[in-house]
Amino acid sequence: MSTISDQDIIQAIKHAIEVGNNTTGGQNASYIPALAQVPSDLFGIAIVTCEGKVFTQGDADTPFAIESISKAFNLAHVMDKIGAKELRTRVGADPTGEPFNSVMAIELHHGSPLNPLVNAGAMATVSLVEGDTSDQIWTNIIGNMMRFTGEPLTVNQEIYKSETDTNQHNRGIAWLLKSYGYMYNDPDMVVDLYTRMCSINITAKQLAIMGACYANGGVNPIDKQRVVNQENVPCILAEMTMSGLYDGSGDWLYKAGLPGKSGVGGGLVAVAPGKLAMAVFSPPLDPCGNSVKGQAALQSIIKDLNLNLYVS
Ligand code: GLN
Repeated sequence: MSTISDQDIIQAIKHAIEVGNNTTGGQNASYIPALAQVPSDLFGIAIVTCEGKVFTQGDADTPFAIESISKAFNLAHVMDKIGAKELRTRVGADPTGEPFNSVMAIELHHGSPLNPLVNAGAMATVSLVEGDTSDQIWTNIIGNMMRFTGEPLTVNQEIYKSETDTNQHNRGIAWLLKSYGYMYNDPDMVVDLYTRMCSINITAKQLAIMGACYANGGVNPIDKQRVVNQENVPCILAEMTMSGLYDGSGDWLYKAGLPGKSGVGGGLVAVAPGKLAMAVFSPPLDPCGNSVKGQAALQSIIKDLNLNLYVS
């Protein structure tokens, strides 16, 4: 097995910036009005290795809303608490093949949220976080995220408010799940916690650290703390492989060959198990809600560093 040198990584990031700069198209998410206001030309890349080395270029320290990427990390907390088997029974594991906020997917599968990375499944997963009050549950949600970053995190109040004012569709999904027996706490409280979780400020560098915890078998490579049981990491990466980019997951996997997770804030993280994680921030999205430049840039790095899991 060839090892990846620091110089290889620096070169690959430089190349990815070029590739990203030559990739146009896409639009900021606008169904959450505050996301439409984020400058579209922000672009940053970060790589964090399993040895804890950090490489960045561009706007890698600019905070943005984590959005759906939070789903892949809250999942770790709940899986550790109730076990992968129980989570599969109560939420599910299978791809929907539908957009991230699909109601039809739920209806077609007898009310099942199907997997923890679509809105329905992510809200069902939030409803399984322990705590007697909303405050206690929130402390557990953000506490888990901060173990992954190893750094304090804040909520972007503007995005939180904007998303709260416009999240009627998610509220509908939460109550639909309740009617089918897949919502394990008060639906309105769960939507609020989920919305706040999606509004957490994150940077590409922090995202790469979070992803590197998965690349490193569940141990944060910077502060060396265990953040998730080792046995759960392959299950989470399997979820990311199947559904991390929603109805764009197949296209991503053909081109990248790595588990990834996107968010409508323009973030995208990919994990090369045993090696490193890479993250990118660029707001314009394709119709599935995945960063256009982000996908091109990470695919370039994966190619340059020969990280595709399916290439022998
Ligand atoms: N908070 C967003 C929503 O619920 C997350 C969607 C996403 O990032 N794909 O619609």
